[in-house]
Amino acid sequence: MRLLAIILTLLLLPALPAKAAPVNLATAATPSASYTSPWESVTAINDGVDPPRSNDTANARWGTWPQTGTQWAELTWPTAQTITSAEVYFFDDNGGVRVPASWKLQRWSGGSYIDIPGTYPTAVNAYNRVTFSQISTVRLRVVLQSGAASVGLLEVKAIGDNGNPSTPWNPPANLVTPLNEVWQHVESTYPNLYGFRNYGWDQIMANGGSINYCVRWDSSATVTAAQRDRIHATLARQFKKWMDVMAGQEGWPYTNVPVKVVGWAVRDRNQLQWTDNSVDIYVGDIRENAPQCVAACGRFFNQNGTYPNCPGGAARHYDMSLWLTAGMGGGAGGDWGQRLGSEYYMANLDADNMHILLHEIGHSFGVDDFYDWTPSGVCCFLMKAGSASSITDFDAWMFRDWWRHLKSRYGR
Ligand SMILES: [Zn+2]
Repeated sequence: MRLLAIILTLLLLPALPAKAAPVNLATAATPSASYTSPWESVTAINDGVDPPRSNDTANARWGTWPQTGTQWAELTWPTAQTITSAEVYFFDDNGGVRVPASWKLQRWSGGSYIDIPGTYPTAVNAYNRVTFSQISTVRLRVVLQSGAASVGLLEVKAIGDNGNPSTPWNPPANLVTPLNEVWQHVESTYPNLYGFRNYGWDQIMANGGSINYCVRWDSSATVTAAQRDRIHATLARQFKKWMDVMAGQEGWPYTNVPVKVVGWAVRDRNQLQWTDNSVDIYVGDIRENAPQCVAACGRFFNQNGTYPNCPGGAARHYDMSLWLTAGMGGGAGGDWGQRLGSEYYMANLDADNMHILLHEIGHSFGVDDFYDWTPSGVCCFLMKAGSASSITDFDAWMFRDWWRHLKSRYGR
């Protein structure tokens, strides 16, 4: 019996098809439109926020009031995407913006827009789904023909696969034992491990493949617009290193997880030397003796993932804080975000690996410290503080193992 089972396994394993993960590709695109009312925002259509209803007063929206006739919004990707269906959620406020009389999707052929044949429903308070034969395009356009009033959209999803078939769990043989030791240690140390639902994993899944940050500027230093943008770029670059570990692994649906900085918290507005409104600014909201973005917008304080009292709506919520404290050595990390020294961060803006930040982001996804023990056969890795300064193979497999154990909550 045993021998037979082994032979069957050997025969069957290579025949198992690699499973491509269906995913909303829209969040990785750049949105644009024929017209946008000055108080609305075209970025609403792919911000990953599922609207509560067509008359959504809480989240960002795209609308064309007072323009009528043929209006469009479209998604543009840097490279061609394979898409098999799309879903749109119409904006309808029972006033100046109503569902369209009709609509259709178009793909960009390289020289012109081509209609995508399909059945196009116009329901309110729901996603309108259109399926079609697989297309490959760098632009997907939603063309709306107005009816009773102007038109608008709350969200557009372009469903396809991420091009990376999901590989089965296959750590290198020498890592199997230490990985098992780590997971047993995790399970015995954290009894609520599977009940807790605010890991970085949960935050990204709730957003449909992106992560929002608030910067807690816990320093008296000033920050220029250029420094603000570099702080964001550095955060995005470091965060991406962990996300790259996941691409195509264990049914993880995203190859690209955009990092949005939606807010900055400071003690004194004059420290921030910019006047544009690209981020929300929170002044003098002090918690733990440090500025914070308003709790009403924070996932840590709203773990059901709704933000009814966030002034900017759910699109301006933040999942994590990047808490930069003057004079701090070392760091801390958790589901609330990462904390490290502001001087260290500013001195390492161009570093390939900002190892303290990388380590703390690891904690935000559940990965533990190793101050009191070391798994068998591995000596040096990022999460064992001081023993490595970049994500090692062992770190990567520990990270994947977290998703492997949690993914069933997302049907994967
Ligand atoms: Zn640590």
